Amino acid sequence: MHHFHYVGQDLHCESVDLAAVAKLYGTPTYVYSAATIADNTTRLSESLKGLDVQICFAMKSNSNLALLKHFANLGAAFDLVSGGEIRRAIAAGSDVRKSVFAGVGKTEAEMKLALESGIFAFHVESEPELARINHVAGKMGVKAPIAIRVNPDVDAHTHHKITTGKSENKFGIPLKYALAAYEAATKFKNVAIKGVQMHIGSQLTDVSPFVEAVTKVIPLVEELKANFGISYFSIGGGIGIVYRDALASGQPGWWQAQPADKRPITPEAYGAALLPLLKPLGLKILLEPGRFLVGNAGVLLARVEYLKRGHGRNFLILDTAMNDLVRPAMYDSYHEIVPLHRDTTRRALTADIVGPICESGDCFAKDRQLQEVGEGEYLAFMSAGAYGFAMASRYNSRPLAAEVLVKGSNFELVNARESFESMIANERIPAFLK
Ligand SMILES: *Cc1c(COP(=O)(O)O)cnc(C)c1O
Repeated sequence: MHHFHYVGQDLHCESVDLAAVAKLYGTPTYVYSAATIADNTTRLSESLKGLDVQICFAMKSNSNLALLKHFANLGAAFDLVSGGEIRRAIAAGSDVRKSVFAGVGKTEAEMKLALESGIFAFHVESEPELARINHVAGKMGVKAPIAIRVNPDVDAHTHHKITTGKSENKFGIPLKYALAAYEAATKFKNVAIKGVQMHIGSQLTDVSPFVEAVTKVIPLVEELKANFGISYFSIGGGIGIVYRDALASGQPGWWQAQPADKRPITPEAYGAALLPLLKPLGLKILLEPGRFLVGNAGVLLARVEYLKRGHGRNFLILDTAMNDLVRPAMYDSYHEIVPLHRDTTRRALTADIVGPICESGDCFAKDRQLQEVGEGEYLAFMSAGAYGFAMASRYNSRPLAAEVLVKGSNFELVNARESFESMIANERIPAFLK
């Protein structure tokens, strides 16, 4: 479910007409729905009711400060992967003592910042990293709380660039070496063993890989509880969302209408499958969802610049590009693209939907069917709330897009469009060229 729908012929986010947002703030602009984020967060925690659950939103999927504050208000903490993200968690006024610090390349400075901020735990990816944490904590005269990330070698059946739980991926320690890694950890005086972690990949649309991975790791978890007194098990993130039928999936009844074998994952199905496995452990459970919480809570608004016809193909050229939303170019991702003003009397158009960047890869969709639209009209990319703005760049000297948060009938700019001046603010022409 999400809160994007047509009111009459005009696409709304909650009670806000998106064309009004596009006119007021220009395009490209990301728009997020606070109610969708709240619903997703609540549904997910309810799905594991009866367990001691802490949601740690994977900040890398969307790190806008307003969204982080919204998550903190909802009781969520964060899965953090850099010093910058730790500082964002602090800047949003959240309680870092509930958040975790992950990632394969943590620097000494980042470790120090995490310890000073009172991080809940480090999610350790290797033995050299453990030695470094021990060293940094020792210098500070503190004990670093840690969990080791185990790699269960499970196929997540997702795009190869977002699978993380196979033995060939760079993440975590293989399951069969995990116990030895924990034993090694006990030799480090300045670390305290707190838990165990896994994360098998992203955009999983079926519960079975989660079940397989949790089932594979449970014997280790039980052993760690008995031998090392761990208090929590983080089962990672990775719950997938609907991309192909995104708009319709927001309508009541859509999920129930899907054939049972094709029904995309729901938090209820996820919870129902995992609760019986997790409950007997008697541990605190951490979840690290990113995409599931924000993906369908955001759209990217764009303006049509040109309709270039003929020569065997039509091209709909927009004012947004791969620098704003890289997923199609990077992962061959599908985003549903819909007009802000729907007009069923118009003819259909089949076109490649592209951006202005000088790269053939700057293509959002090939041979896409939509209603005929022309210069100055607006489109929305659905399901753009996760790994959208967060992955944006300034390629072709295009300033970063604006971001807007909607709540009911209120909306506010939560990230102003980047100015040219701020884009070049850190650049210098050296004296020897003057
Ligand atoms: C990326 C990541 C997540 C979030 O993944 P989603 O698919 O967005 O839910 C969670 N945990 C870790 C360790 C990650 O790297």
